[in-house]
Amino acid sequence: MIADLQKASALALDERRLARRHSLSALAISALHTLICLFFLQGGYFVSGLGSFVTLFAVIWAGNLLLASLVLSGFSTRWRDQSLSLPWNLWLTAGFLTSAYFVDDFRLSTVLFFFAAMLLLSFRQRMLVLMGVAALASAGYLGVIILALQERSIYLNLSVEVLQWLIFTLTALGFAVTGAGINALRGILTRKNRELGEALVQVREMAIRDELTGMFNRRHIMDVLRQQQALADSGDYGFALCFLDLDHFKHTNDTYGHGVGDEVLRRFSGVADECLRDADYTGRMGGEEFVLVLTQAGLEEACMVTNRVRTTLAERDYSDLHPDLRVTVSAGVALYRPGESLDETLARADQCLYQAKATGRNRVVNESELEADPEEGARACS
Ligand code: GH3
Ligand code: MG
Ligand code: MG
Repeated sequence: MIADLQKASALALDERRLARRHSLSALAISALHTLICLFFLQGGYFVSGLGSFVTLFAVIWAGNLLLASLVLSGFSTRWRDQSLSLPWNLWLTAGFLTSAYFVDDFRLSTVLFFFAAMLLLSFRQRMLVLMGVAALASAGYLGVIILALQERSIYLNLSVEVLQWLIFTLTALGFAVTGAGINALRGILTRKNRELGEALVQVREMAIRDELTGMFNRRHIMDVLRQQQALADSGDYGFALCFLDLDHFKHTNDTYGHGVGDEVLRRFSGVADECLRDADYTGRMGGEEFVLVLTQAGLEEACMVTNRVRTTLAERDYSDLHPDLRVTVSAGVALYRPGESLDETLARADQCLYQAKATGRNRVVNESELEADPEEGARACS
């Protein structure tokens, strides 16, 4: 079960890893932007002096490091958008636009970084947010052009600047629409993966459980027995096997109805669960026949547990189903002997059960009593 749950959760996207990768990508984009601006500074295209350049990028990188540390330390996991995609995008865009103000000849090449940052946002945000960011970037770009024109109008070509701004704005809006589509697809994929994981767990449960009682079915109990056999054969620890069969169950069905019969089977399952330890297994082999697999148990202990199931079932009140209803069970207990086949153990337990039935029912017979006088044996264990 645990392995299934792990498999199921692995199908869902790992948000934490995605957030980390998102931050590293944002840092890489900012590093590239810083490098390009350094080239502009070297080439004399960055119109401010070295002092403003250093101050600008010191501020940009202080913000970068703050955002990255919030994500990489895991602090951001307490927020819905744990990759901080919106703060990252706004911060990077502010840096790109500020640097764009200082490079008149290569303005477009610095604002183009905005699209790389927009790609990261696409995986995270809805259409409305993406449109808002695109509009904000477009307005910011226009503001940068106006400020640059005010400062250095003689050097600038207004129509080229406006045309570039128009291309930028249209492309940004296109990115916003496409990005919203990507985000929607990602949402669908995450949901489908979660549903698939849940379905996997459900299918596995259905394959190993009996529908009526919720107990393990015959096939799964046989798997359990094979595992226990391997452990016992390798000398780890042995196990006991008990067969149980409700007494006169046909009579219960015939007298009180099939519905009451079904409820009795369910109540037997509840009683067995109450009486067993977590390490033990109970299963329905079919009809009104059940099996207990008691791990690390000797014959005496197994007999005691099985008797506990028998007495609890017999003493329980069934008056809500019918005032006259009584339920008892007979059982046979055998110990697995290392090296033998499971069929041999099962056959011994079955013989014991047969003896319990033959000697009056509502009793437990164990294999040490098999060779003894049937009457004697049954009395010894019940
Ligand atoms: P004994 O004490 O010898 O075991 O007698 P019995 O009547 O319990 O045994 P028998 O094998 O004659 O009858 C078993 C009955 O169990 C017959 C069948 O209709 C009933 N049965 C099998 N499966 C189900 C089920 O899923 N629901 C119900 N209500 N009855 C079932
Ligand atoms: Mg039967
Ligand atoms: Mg029966």
